[in-house]
Amino acid sequence: MSIVVQKFGGTSVASVTHIERVASRILKTRREGHSVVVVVSAMGDETDRLDSLAQEVDYSQQEARREIDVLLSSGEQVTISLLSMTLMKMGCRAKSYTGGQIRILTDSAFTRARIHDVDTSKLRADIDAGVVPVIAGFQGVDSEGNITTFGRGGSDTTAVALAAVLEAEECQIFTDVKGVYTTDPKVVEGARCLEKITFEEMLELASLGSGVLHPRAVSFASKYHVPLRVLSSFNDSPGTLITNEENSTMEQAIISGIAFTRDEAKLTVVGVKDIPGIAFKILGPVSDANIEVDMIVQNVAADKSTDFTFTVRRHDYAQATKILKKVAKDIDAREVSGDNKIAKLSMVGVGMRSHAGVASKMFQVLADESINILMISTSEIRISVVISEKYLELAARALHSAFDLANENSELA
Ligand code: ADP
Ligand code: ASP
Ligand code: MG
Repeated sequence: MSIVVQKFGGTSVASVTHIERVASRILKTRREGHSVVVVVSAMGDETDRLDSLAQEVDYSQQEARREIDVLLSSGEQVTISLLSMTLMKMGCRAKSYTGGQIRILTDSAFTRARIHDVDTSKLRADIDAGVVPVIAGFQGVDSEGNITTFGRGGSDTTAVALAAVLEAEECQIFTDVKGVYTTDPKVVEGARCLEKITFEEMLELASLGSGVLHPRAVSFASKYHVPLRVLSSFNDSPGTLITNEENSTMEQAIISGIAFTRDEAKLTVVGVKDIPGIAFKILGPVSDANIEVDMIVQNVAADKSTDFTFTVRRHDYAQATKILKKVAKDIDAREVSGDNKIAKLSMVGVGMRSHAGVASKMFQVLADESINILMISTSEIRISVVISEKYLELAARALHSAFDLANENSELA
């Protein structure tokens, strides 16, 4: 019998009534002749609640990360038990497992662990016995038995990993919207649900802030050829299939979507000497503090001195500023300035490879709305701009409309 992995996100399991609906969905798939392996998230905003408790304790040293994982992983344990009991009540044999009980083996990088191996023996035995295994998403164990988590949104990655090792027919990610849209449908009313999207584009969108799929889930699915579908747990529409470029019929779309993230801050070291080694002197200490740097811009020196700007995650802003103030003194720079009310907006599409003019049109649209671009970066299939956060939604709507993304047959612009 073919195996389907079904993952249900937080909003889909937000209450016992929601969990009953999820159970009915699982039973329907079984009636259609599939074995189902289930992955669930914590109920509703439970992980946010747990996270805010940790912030209240306010102890952010390295050794706290292990404890954060013990805390955050607890939300999923509630859901697996409630869903298993609900399935049993409906006459279906089911059994809950934490990541550790399955043995989803990871490295020890707490809060962002990577999966090394998945033991399929318990899952296979359950499937053979007609039992539905219900697995807690976003968690595993390291070789010492410590609980680890994969980073926020990581239940998608659990689902794809299980689908890969079980060679499932499809991995279905059930969420609170109909599928993958041209942009966040909660921000742009006219956003359109896509029938298909390539792994390459989906990976860009996910990495650039489209919260609908965890980026690692997308790269995993692409690497292990797992057919991946995003669909709604609230209705029966077919959702969006993530597919390989060759099979896709959508190569005519130049832009497939717009992604954005508010989780950004930028820092500038002003008046830096234009000599070799400066970038390393500035970014070395930042990276030593485990702070991820995203966009980097160094201006051409006009008078032998230049400005060096880069972006970090907003929650790293305070620490990065502290580090830079010290560095600025050491390298004799004029000052450090910063802005933590910025956002990054990106347009993604494989069609950009063969079509020029997307960037200039994008800049024109932003100019028409009097939105100042603070930074720009591009890749073959993406253009990203940093703008003031207060203009983010306006920019997303203006670009969505100017590029006619609501229209399926749009040839662009
Ligand atoms: P879940 O709890 O089911 O994992 P998430 O909140 O992680 O749900 O992801 C679904 C949300 O992603 C949607 O409610 C939507 O607001 C947001 N989102 C952002 N960009 C997109 C997009 N391009 N397509 C669909 N949803 C998107
Ligand atoms: N519950 C975790 C989170 O909210 C994992 C997930 O839902 O994917 O980030
Ligand atoms: Mg999610």
